[in-house]
Amino acid sequence: MPADLHTHSTFSDGTDSPEELVRLAAAAGLTTIALTDHDNVDGIEQAAEAGRGVGVEVIPGIEFTTENSRAELHILGYFIDYRSEPLLAVLQKVQHGRVKRIDKIVQKLNKLGVDIEPSDVFSISGEKAPGRPHVARALIKRGAVGSFKEAFDRYLDWRAPAYVPHYKLAPIEAIKLIKEAGGIPVFAHPAISNCDDLVPKLVEAGLRGLEVYYPGYYRDMIDHYLALAKKHDLLVTGGTDFHGEGSGREIKLGDLTVPDELVDKLKNEHLRGN
Ligand code: AMP
Ligand code: FE
Ligand code: FE
Ligand code: ZN
Repeated sequence: MPADLHTHSTFSDGTDSPEELVRLAAAAGLTTIALTDHDNVDGIEQAAEAGRGVGVEVIPGIEFTTENSRAELHILGYFIDYRSEPLLAVLQKVQHGRVKRIDKIVQKLNKLGVDIEPSDVFSISGEKAPGRPHVARALIKRGAVGSFKEAFDRYLDWRAPAYVPHYKLAPIEAIKLIKEAGGIPVFAHPAISNCDDLVPKLVEAGLRGLEVYYPGYYRDMIDHYLALAKKHDLLVTGGTDFHGEGSGREIKLGDLTVPDELVDKLKNEHLRGN
């Protein structure tokens, strides 16, 4: 039965609440989803509860935004203990950094002549894991730009004038934290980060999987990452990276699924670890 191991809710930059996400998953015929909000685990319980009502299994997950000197790497954590104190302490620090960063982005936008206030962003994002997509939505709502693409091209892309970085873990720190919280660390959409040569170091730190199936990945990319996973004895995962309607991404739940066999391997790894 099909699964989607990469989804976002309103607890990060998705546009559906955890309950709506699960309902959409059921409607799309999915039997398992992983909720993997950016730097946040607060939607997991609601998603799991809703999942029990409609027969969708919800794997507790997270997607850490991390960086090293060369690139931004996203590290997924599956079957994470979302009550783990060390995890929650780090998330609080990351979330605080994300909130402060919105103030700085807004200041830069104001200097560029854009009429926007922090509350325009926080009324969309809440104060858990606000990010650039929320700023983009606020800019569209204010009429300052016509589209997501324009918001990123003109203001928010890392080369654009209102870009502000935020506090991020190093990839190896995120991997260790996920493991400490009983989770399985997986390198998300590796082609975006373009640093395959770092994979051996990540594996040494405890990386256990590669996200091989991802929207827009061509057959040769998939084969490349399947081979890399095999070489390092890594689990293979995949998903849509669903962010919901109005999120700036077109893909829908059910458009890309992974088979049970991969989910079972992930589950077996989790059971072995406990
Ligand atoms: P943040 O973590 O706040 O820096 O925001 C990163 C998120 O912004 C990514 O996960 C994407 O969902 C989105 N994003 C980044 N670059 C673009 C872009 N050029 N166009 C649309 N969305 C983007
Ligand atoms: Fe996102
Ligand atoms: Fe990501
Ligand atoms: Zn994602």
